Amino acid sequence: MMETSAPLELLYQISREIAAALDLHTVLRRVLSAALQHVGAERGSIVVVDDQGKPVEATLVYGNQYHEHTTARLRDTLERGLAGWVIRNRKPALVPDTRRDERWLRRPDDTRSETGAKSAICVPLLAREKLVGVLTVVHPQPGTFNEQHLNLMQAIADQAGIAILNARLYTESQRQARVMSALVECAITINASLELNEVYRRILHQTMQALQVETVVLGLLDEKGEALIFRAADGRQAGSLLNRTLPADQGILGWVLRQGKGMILTSPEEKRRFGATEMFEGQLKAMALVPIQDRERTLGILAAINPPSGVFDPDALLVMTGIGSLAGIAIQNALSAERLQAAQRRYQELFEGSIDAILFTDLEGRILESNRQALQLFGYEKQTLLSLSIEHLQAWPPGFPPHSLDALEAEETLRFESLVRSKSGYEVPVEVYARRQRWENRDVIQWTFHDVRERKELDRLREELAAMIYHDLRSPLGNLVSSLEMLKAISPTENVEVASILEIASHAVARLQRMVNSLLDIHRLEAGMPLTERQAVRVSELLNRAASDVQMTLRARAQRLEIADQAPGAWVSVDVEMIGRVLVNLLENASKFSPSQSTIQMGAEIPEKAPTQVRFWVKDSGPGIAPEDQQRIFEKFTRLAGQKIGGLGIGLAFCRLAVQAHGGTIGVESQPGKGATFFFLLPQSFETPS
Ligand code: ADP
Repeated sequence: MMETSAPLELLYQISREIAAALDLHTVLRRVLSAALQHVGAERGSIVVVDDQGKPVEATLVYGNQYHEHTTARLRDTLERGLAGWVIRNRKPALVPDTRRDERWLRRPDDTRSETGAKSAICVPLLAREKLVGVLTVVHPQPGTFNEQHLNLMQAIADQAGIAILNARLYTESQRQARVMSALVECAITINASLELNEVYRRILHQTMQALQVETVVLGLLDEKGEALIFRAADGRQAGSLLNRTLPADQGILGWVLRQGKGMILTSPEEKRRFGATEMFEGQLKAMALVPIQDRERTLGILAAINPPSGVFDPDALLVMTGIGSLAGIAIQNALSAERLQAAQRRYQELFEGSIDAILFTDLEGRILESNRQALQLFGYEKQTLLSLSIEHLQAWPPGFPPHSLDALEAEETLRFESLVRSKSGYEVPVEVYARRQRWENRDVIQWTFHDVRERKELDRLREELAAMIYHDLRSPLGNLVSSLEMLKAISPTENVEVASILEIASHAVARLQRMVNSLLDIHRLEAGMPLTERQAVRVSELLNRAASDVQMTLRARAQRLEIADQAPGAWVSVDVEMIGRVLVNLLENASKFSPSQSTIQMGAEIPEKAPTQVRFWVKDSGPGIAPEDQQRIFEKFTRLAGQKIGGLGIGLAFCRLAVQAHGGTIGVESQPGKGATFFFLLPQSFETPS
């Protein structure tokens, strides 16, 4: 038995022995054995407490054997007996005779006559001012321990305190390392797939691996967030869990989803309260549930059921929570990937199923992709088509050279008509839509070729038919005119009624003739046929002829015509009949749009700025024409909206074609509400006939 104060050598030895171990159990055993050995005690214990003073570990020695005690049984000793006093007071206690000390908690073997404890020392284990446990040694002989033993125990306790703290830190860091490596492995495995079912499988497998539980189940919220559907399950009872739907606002599921926090259920009372038994039909020992979260959103729940020992170890919730958030991100990624693939499939179907031929080219025109319809239209094998350039396939319309592709704005669509050439040299008229867009991370042009063969054929037939009709109308109309002339010549002059009827008839026929001629002219001029009937004529003669042609029309509306001929000596070389019709058209429009009894003016002049030309003009006092319509009205079939006065919208189109065929230009000046002045310029003819 040691009698002296703690020699340095001894302490050094103890400290080395203790420090050599890092595992808490070993440390406790070594401390206890050093203590017993050096004070000659025969039994003793160390109880380790946590920051709240609760016992977390304990080692006891009696009968020369170690016993690891369940901490629950020690609680009593710690709260009441000698150790409790030491913990509360943070002071060592020397009890030479336990029979005479009230702090000693007596047990049945501990009475005066029995062999139980008689002499005891109890010291607090402190590390950096923090209480980490208590060390108690006991001897059956009263009066065995004295102050020197107490000093030695205190010295050992100082060493032990630090050693226990280190061991705890070590355990903690070991634990963290385990958690970390489990999570890292999870992250790598789970994120390695983008296929949703595979992602589920990996999440389940990793949870199983990390926690060694019997069953793992993964549930996701439905679109409305009202129900949770078990999408995947593994382990015992997996089959009965799979595809089950549970309300998302009840029991344990509701709690975890609402709180966004994990929970472990172990006690039967908790399980009942949270309705866990309804969720899992098999025998339920313990269940850990964590939310599956993607950033701020909760997508569902991951549950682990029945760990091997019946209880989860302290890391379980931490590991599960980590897996839960990894799972959230992985599931979200997989869902996005699925949506993307679905969108791509849809696009592919639209692309392949389109009735129009579609090609993608780069900005240089090299073909990158084509649909089935394009292969048919162009008659190439796909491989060959993909080696060609857009220029091989179609003729560019004027004003659309290939280098303008690059200038096309994103999402801008160009539309033009063109002819595409197939491999066999066959040409097909098409409407082309070229649109710049992003495709597979690059700027491309999407070309859509709409076959217009049928429409063109119909157009051609219609025009042929129209031309035939106009043509065939001409000779009977001509006959009608001459018959009316003859009738006029032979009818008695004194019969005013007959004369006026004949006058109206011949005027109507003349209008009809002008209309048919204009329609025929439109056809010819559009087809680019040259003028054949040109002859030199005085400007004044053109004005006078037109004035007499519209005389009846104006009279019917009580309108007056004023002629301002400021180029009386000028000549032009024109198809007299055609230019005459241009003037009549303008005069008839002026009459139609002006109020009755108003005055219409017509004139000709030599413009100062263009002295080689003659400017004809017709001025009315009608509603005028808005600036935005002043170009449009010269196009075929254009009639302005909200107009009560009838017409076909071809008069001005004819005028423009006729004037242009003579090398002239036509236009209108008008302020809405203040009438309109239509004008056209023709080159003067200086070779006057003698
Ligand atoms: P329409 O046979 O229908 O008169 P036009 O080609 O002669 O066809 O004229 C086209 C359109 O231009 C007319 O429908 C009318 O809206 C407008 N327009 C033509 N002349 C005049 C005018 N003198 N005053 C106002 N609007 C006119």
